[in-house]
Amino acid sequence: MICEPLNAGASNMRALWKQTQGRLRELISEEEYNDWFENVHIEEIRDETVIFGIPSGYRRDYIEENYQSLLGSIISSLLGEPIRAEILLSDTPVEEWNEPEGRTAIHTETDTPLELEPLNEHYTFTSYVVGASNKIAHAAAEAIAQESSIKPYNNPFFLYGGVGLGKTHLMQAIGNEVLKLHTGKRVAYLSAEQFVNLFIDAIKRNDRLSFQATFRNVDVLLVDDIQFLEGKESTLEEFFHTFNALHNRRKQIVISSDRPPKDIRSIQDRLRSRFEWGLIVDIEPPEFEHRMAILRQKCENINADVPDEVLEFIANRIRSSVRELEGALSKIMAHTHIAEERVDVETAGKLLGEFSDHSQKDVTIERIQRKVADYFNIKTADIMGSSRSRSIAKPRQIAMYLSRKLTRHSFPEIGTFFGNKDHTTIMFAHKKISKEMETDTDLRAMIQRLTDSVAY
Ligand code: ADP
Ligand code: MG
Repeated sequence: MICEPLNAGASNMRALWKQTQGRLRELISEEEYNDWFENVHIEEIRDETVIFGIPSGYRRDYIEENYQSLLGSIISSLLGEPIRAEILLSDTPVEEWNEPEGRTAIHTETDTPLELEPLNEHYTFTSYVVGASNKIAHAAAEAIAQESSIKPYNNPFFLYGGVGLGKTHLMQAIGNEVLKLHTGKRVAYLSAEQFVNLFIDAIKRNDRLSFQATFRNVDVLLVDDIQFLEGKESTLEEFFHTFNALHNRRKQIVISSDRPPKDIRSIQDRLRSRFEWGLIVDIEPPEFEHRMAILRQKCENINADVPDEVLEFIANRIRSSVRELEGALSKIMAHTHIAEERVDVETAGKLLGEFSDHSQKDVTIERIQRKVADYFNIKTADIMGSSRSRSIAKPRQIAMYLSRKLTRHSFPEIGTFFGNKDHTTIMFAHKKISKEMETDTDLRAMIQRLTDSVAY
């Protein structure tokens, strides 16, 4: 599937040969390289074959015998396609294929990497507050950033969790740390959405080589919000090849998503299974103490003096997203600034009353029941009914659990919403699900997704 423009222009072939040379030098000794590859060039790219030209019959035979398959696999990994290498005796004069860029025939492709947005320097490990919900993700991210060589069991590193829980922060922290610790390493960070846009642009400009050069020559590739690729066939295909090219060369890949790989639908199984090759870690919503620590750190950063009761008020109020915590704090700070007075709990209450706190507002038991029913493809009536079939009883218990967690209703009140059930039934469900969540990470992830879908 080599696209046509690749066949045009000697500069493409020079660019490709240059990249191939780079790889060869990494793989064979200096002497070997000088002995055999001095006057080699790429003569032609045709269908699934790259033809190497060599001006000496004796070298041609030797290269064919000893390096043909190596050349083939290097080119395949560079282009992300299975490519065969052929070695020909060629009498093309050296000057011709070595001609300077400017004098070549019309061509559109270059191998100049595209410009990506720089990392946000504020997203570092130092500014990331660690708690129970993100301890493992943080430790893994830090280890990956610090290691100078790739550990296969960490590659790819797949990070997932709900909105506003610090995935982007952590990914960028990896990038910043790598740049700080390992000079010369190349880091590319982008969202899956940007990946799609750059890919579409590249196709339009007939400049796929630049696109590939951007991603296949990095040491660390960080792709945020990969779920965005769902259903985007041609970009998925390209991403698959990018993934393989980097993974084969033992380069670190870091991917984030709002859900685990198995729940990303509409992507090819072969890609999904690759996501599961390395380390998969989730970030959960922070606990109360953790939320307090985050708020305290944010205050410290901006030198804000907010009473502890107010921070506690915010931390009690906003539970499901660090971004929302930050938003609430900003609101309080803005007021402090304008009114020139310290905010007390009462004022905070008024201020945040109108604050669009999705995590608390509009959450009704009916909404929870609807969302849970949708999720499991059952009827809301089943959730309120009393069927004991597992496919219904379990979702019902989950809905009961969420009703207790996300609303302010008491156990007896919740009972009335579930077809007048006794409060002990609700308590039992709450306890059972809480207990299972301690050991069942899938259940935890499911509850997190349901919580998100109820909140937004
Ligand atoms: P996500 O990518 O998961 O949606 P972000 O990384 O964008 O979330 O985080 C949202 C905001 O919350 C960012 O400003 C980020 O700096 C902040 N944040 C998230 N987690 C933490 C944390 N553990 N410590 C400090 N700030 C955090
Ligand atoms: Mg993000």
